[in-house]
Amino acid sequence: MGATGDKPPHAVCVPYPSQGDITPTLHLAKLLHARGFHVTFVNTEFNHRRLLASRGAAALDGVPGFVFAAIPDGLPAMSGEDEDATQDIPALCQSTMTNCLGHLLALLSRLNEPASGSPPVTCLVADGLMSFAYDAARVIGVPCAALWTASACGFVGCRLYRELIDRGLVPLRDAAQLTDGYLDTVVDGAAARGMCDGVQLRDYPSFIRTTDLGDVMLNFIMREAERLSLPDAVILNTFDDLERPALDAMRAVLPPPVYAVGPLHLHVRRAVPTGSPLHGVGSNLWKEQDGLLEWLDGHRPSSVVYVSYGSIAVMTSEQLLEFAWGLADSGYAFVWVVRPDLVKGGEGDAAALPPEFHAAVEGRGVLPAWCPQEKVLEHDAVGVFLTHSGWNSTLESLAAGVPMLSWPFFAEQQTNCRYKRTEWGIGMEIGGNARRGEVAAMIREAMEGKKGREIRRRAQEWKEKAVRVTLPGGPGDTNLDRVIHDVLLSCK
Ligand code: UDP
Repeated sequence: MGATGDKPPHAVCVPYPSQGDITPTLHLAKLLHARGFHVTFVNTEFNHRRLLASRGAAALDGVPGFVFAAIPDGLPAMSGEDEDATQDIPALCQSTMTNCLGHLLALLSRLNEPASGSPPVTCLVADGLMSFAYDAARVIGVPCAALWTASACGFVGCRLYRELIDRGLVPLRDAAQLTDGYLDTVVDGAAARGMCDGVQLRDYPSFIRTTDLGDVMLNFIMREAERLSLPDAVILNTFDDLERPALDAMRAVLPPPVYAVGPLHLHVRRAVPTGSPLHGVGSNLWKEQDGLLEWLDGHRPSSVVYVSYGSIAVMTSEQLLEFAWGLADSGYAFVWVVRPDLVKGGEGDAAALPPEFHAAVEGRGVLPAWCPQEKVLEHDAVGVFLTHSGWNSTLESLAAGVPMLSWPFFAEQQTNCRYKRTEWGIGMEIGGNARRGEVAAMIREAMEGKKGREIRRRAQEWKEKAVRVTLPGGPGDTNLDRVIHDVLLSCK
């Protein structure tokens, strides 16, 4: 293989600077490396420092042909403890959109200097929220594929924002519409555009929940969803059996070809086996707690509740307390990831929970700040996943055959939650204002009730399908080969 004589092709991968984007982009980058590409993986300087702190320099360096680089994100420097926290997402969106093109072009030009030691850049793989990178690829004359790291159904919801505005459904008239039943409005005609039947306003990605037509996130997401028409290909971490109507709708509206190649982490497990040099290159921005898998080894199959709200979701200290007592009252053993920045305003973490709670769950609950989630979900002991419904968490759980209780926070988590309930049959929803009684009851139902048995059975079926589509020669593998050969290795 070689786009420039006998030199390997060189892919520059540019994730959006958040955990849920870095992880799937790193998966894809590893698969490109396994197929013969030289890879430059571009983080923001902020996240590069965090990766160095959580993984150590050795984990980011030293794999031949796989190099990390960093560009500024344009935000003012943080200090001290803030360096281990999720950044302000609207500010980050504004900043990357405004500031990063110049930094990326400067990096590309450095990489293309003969003295750089790397082969000339032959293609870009850019996050669908970093569309400035499509412009950079055009400037240097190489093909660019976008990786949309969220669900296809979430994308369709975002792409329909403009129509919701034109129909006068969005923005909200006033804040009361958040709670007065307005969000239950069924959106006519949405099924013909790739959403599921009976979809309600509450199921659309959450950025429509604003009274301000100038809202930063509403406009950023609308812009990036529309700019997904611009790259040479669109790659999604999903599979056709799972999201066919949404993928068909994307193929109908987007000029570039759309390739469903997921679940990426299952491909990586095969292509980058334990012991291979790239295996140790990880993407976690927080340091994983040791010993959890051993703790799970001591538990019966399907007897533990795993709880995590991903990397961005935050809650009030009251909500933290309600979840805590809900878990305690459920009677089940649990692993609950409580990030240091999980509570809004930084006013609470696991240590801030009352001593009575710690006493009540002693020996049956562990509260790491971060864990090796993929491995935890794969462990036999885990029976249900209480999740915010981010797309990576959803796919990792589905691929492990673990049913879900959803507490969606923002973005397309609302859409994923809806699909898990009504389309894929693998989830139940906990209401936004979760109370301890509801949390405990839902956990019991999911672990041992009739509904729980049904979602567990469906989750097993989806697991088998996910494994099948990622087998060598299966649709995911074939689509990956196609986007590589038809787009990333093509000449402009
Ligand atoms: N994750 C992890 N350990 C944890 C919590 C989360 O490794 O303790 C990973 C998880 O496996 C997933 C990612 O963080 O790959 C979160 O991405 P997701 O799309 O689910 O949510 P986001 O963080 O973007 O809201």
